[in-house]
Amino acid sequence: MKNANLQVRKENAMARGQGNMAPVYVDRAQNAEVWDVEGKRYIDFGAGIAVVNTGHNHPKVKAAVMAQVERFTHTCVMVSPYESAVELSEKLNAAAPGPTPKKSILVTTGAEAVENCVKIARAYTGRPGVIAFNGGFHGRTNMTMGLTGKVAPYKVGFGPFPSDIFHVPYPNEYHGVSIEQSLNDLKMRFTCDIEASRVAAIIIEPVQGEGGFYQAPAEFLQALRAICDEHGILLIMDEIQTGFARTGSMFAHETSGVEADLMTAAKGIAGGFPIAAVVGKADIMDAPIPGGLGGTYGGSPVGCAAALAVFDVIEEEKLCERATQIGEHMVTHLHDIKEMHTDLVGNIRNSGAMIALELVKDGDVNQPNPELTKALVSKASEKGLILLSCGIRGNVIRFLPALTAEFDILDEGMAMLKACFAELT
Ligand code: PMP
Repeated sequence: MKNANLQVRKENAMARGQGNMAPVYVDRAQNAEVWDVEGKRYIDFGAGIAVVNTGHNHPKVKAAVMAQVERFTHTCVMVSPYESAVELSEKLNAAAPGPTPKKSILVTTGAEAVENCVKIARAYTGRPGVIAFNGGFHGRTNMTMGLTGKVAPYKVGFGPFPSDIFHVPYPNEYHGVSIEQSLNDLKMRFTCDIEASRVAAIIIEPVQGEGGFYQAPAEFLQALRAICDEHGILLIMDEIQTGFARTGSMFAHETSGVEADLMTAAKGIAGGFPIAAVVGKADIMDAPIPGGLGGTYGGSPVGCAAALAVFDVIEEEKLCERATQIGEHMVTHLHDIKEMHTDLVGNIRNSGAMIALELVKDGDVNQPNPELTKALVSKASEKGLILLSCGIRGNVIRFLPALTAEFDILDEGMAMLKACFAELT
């Protein structure tokens, strides 16, 4: 009854806009497992939306945080800075793909990182325009809602959004959007909407997160790089969901050979502590004048301590390699499901441990199955499995387990998912 009572209290006390996927209230969590207030155990295939890549309560992250809390918790990096913020920026600069020297700023949330990318790009280029992609998700502030390419639930009732933002189809092989179509549409924006010389930046997720786990081919990112270079436009990679070993490399665009001008980092950066960053080419990052960037909590010392520990854990426990192994392992299970339910499983795809199962009706890509997706998420919760959905059509189950998850836990979770399919279909 505790969960039910808490859900009633929540609905009375918290606005419905901040919804929750299941009425399950957490008591404690460890690595890839969560226990609710009624003592029930769950296997966590969501990792707090790709945040605890190093698992819940990783001992090293926890120890680093505790040690920091003993020393001090806040001075504001813009008032009295501290070494950990400098060290974290150095690590981010070194980890960002590409040879150009980098600089960073530390902020608090993913949306704030994206918002700052646009500020920096505008300050550097002196131009207003931004091009983003259909199905993209960049946050819930006014600018980032404007950049987001999905109306419900992110934009409903919240306009007007900033002007000079235009959207282009994201290349998507499964849905029949070719690289060529996407690039042609981008060029059409320069003809129909805004001259290229007024565009400050193109922003892209190397793998769309909320939009459905679709990966932009390397060839497409390379073509964007060439278009940006031709027109003096900055290329921004939003790595908020894809970063920190999740896709099998530290950042997802690393494997494309493309160097971004600006990149966001959040979520997996600090094992759950609210810290985020913009990392970019040093001369671009230095365009805004002193005091133009930042905020009270940006680069919190507790977040910095956690993030430095996360960097160590990723290296020590070889989490990039592990993400690749987890992806291969989970996909094998998903193929078992496809064999038994060919008409319902439209597509299985993964970029490392960013794994997706797209559900359809009659095996038809054009008949999404959001009803089954919802039913599976809810049945899984009853069985003790935390599952997340995503996708512009609401018909994708995404799997984002901790990269430290034990393989027998992953197998147990997948067995639960198979049982859910058996019961619901
Ligand atoms: N960009 C991407 C790609 C994201 O996945 C998210 C969060 N889902 C954001 C931006 C926004 O991050 P936050 O919720 O921390 O503001």
